[in-house]
Amino acid sequence: MSDYSFFEGVEKNFDKAAKHTTLPSGILEQIKGCNAVFRMNFPVKIGDSVEVIEAYRVQHSNHRSPTKGGIRYSLGVNQDEVMALAALMTYKCAVVDVPFGGAKGGVKINSRAYNEEQLERITRRYASELIKKNFIGPGMDVPAPDYGTGPREMAWIMDTYMALNPGEIDAAGCVTGKPVSQNGIAGRTEATGRGVYYAIREACNHDEDMKPLGLSTGLKGKTMVIQGLGNVGSYAGKISQDEGGVKIIGVAEYEGSIHCPEGLDIHALLDFRAKTGSIVGFPGSTTLEHRSAALELECDILVPAALENQINESNAVNVKAKIIAEAANGPVTPEAEEVLLKRGCLIIPDMYANAGGVTVSYFEWLKNLSHMRFGRMQKRFESNRYELLVDLVLKMTGKELSASERKMLTFGADEVDLVRSGLEETMITAYNGIRDTKKSKNIKDMRTAAFVYAIEKIGSDYTALGIWP
Ligand code: GLU
Repeated sequence: MSDYSFFEGVEKNFDKAAKHTTLPSGILEQIKGCNAVFRMNFPVKIGDSVEVIEAYRVQHSNHRSPTKGGIRYSLGVNQDEVMALAALMTYKCAVVDVPFGGAKGGVKINSRAYNEEQLERITRRYASELIKKNFIGPGMDVPAPDYGTGPREMAWIMDTYMALNPGEIDAAGCVTGKPVSQNGIAGRTEATGRGVYYAIREACNHDEDMKPLGLSTGLKGKTMVIQGLGNVGSYAGKISQDEGGVKIIGVAEYEGSIHCPEGLDIHALLDFRAKTGSIVGFPGSTTLEHRSAALELECDILVPAALENQINESNAVNVKAKIIAEAANGPVTPEAEEVLLKRGCLIIPDMYANAGGVTVSYFEWLKNLSHMRFGRMQKRFESNRYELLVDLVLKMTGKELSASERKMLTFGADEVDLVRSGLEETMITAYNGIRDTKKSKNIKDMRTAAFVYAIEKIGSDYTALGIWP
């Protein structure tokens, strides 16, 4: 195993990138470190006893406000992990031009060991600890879902915040990833997975980058292996299959790895797992010898969508994928990356590949502050204008349209259409920003280029803000 921690790994990547910038060392040091670490213990009544829960919230950088980042529920949570994930949020937000500093929260529990009522108690108590210390608020620090949490937990957090901050008009913006009916936004649940899809699609659009991999441009027919069928992995898989025509040939999950050289239907696999509790035994698949064996399958695109450190020095030499799209945070260790880069693998780094979640969180936060659903003002206006235009063109050309064609041409954008379009635009622009940085500074890999792209933006913020006496 490597002799440095997850956070030190992020620092190593930062240092490698910092050499390509001209920022003064003091500014670099300020960007790199974590600004505030809040470690807490709180008691929660579980059954007949009281359990002491260990939890964290880390704010990595305050060059922009609020700070932003998910809350993870996992037994693997520790201070170093939360610091690393908070740092990645800073760079992630900068890469996709989302005007937040980075933060992350973690609660050291196995969420499967508690019933819903107990989880609600833990979540509300965690939220009230954050409130007491001013570590949450629409202009302060805005959590979101991460591993082990989802819209339900976000609704509990919002409700706790509202109860303790009566009359705060923007209170709903204290957390994102809420249910759509509870001040959430359409398209947030799928956002990280959809962002992963746009990232892969954009990478595959550049002939110059595909050629060295021996691949043609475009996604259609490319083979994909996914590790992890949680929220991110399952949406990345569904959208890549349905909209990109990708062939999913292998999946790794907690219970095992399966291989389907002919390609599997991801919807059928998800149904099968929901019914049986496992991907193992999925009709038409073969089960591989160990849990993460699918990572080592021959494929065009590998999507690690589980946790950090999954591709490390012990398995990197066996990973054969031509492209790795880091849907999880930190799935490839720095040592593994060296091995993979040496053999010419294209790694689309986490801070970009999985930034779709925070991008749509930003849209949700804006919606909360504006107190209005996107599309409400313009939907009918747009559609009425297109109706007029289509009628005019049909009259002039004497042509007819089918009902579905007319609908396609004349509909006004709904919230989900605008969210997807904003996400698509963000992912394409960011990819090309990273790619241009890579080329102009003659950088070998996408991760270093993404770090440089982010560090320069954050550095210019600090410079513009000035340093207070
Ligand atoms: N937890 C997600 C991430 O790691 C989302 C963060 C957010 O929306 O604030 O990017």
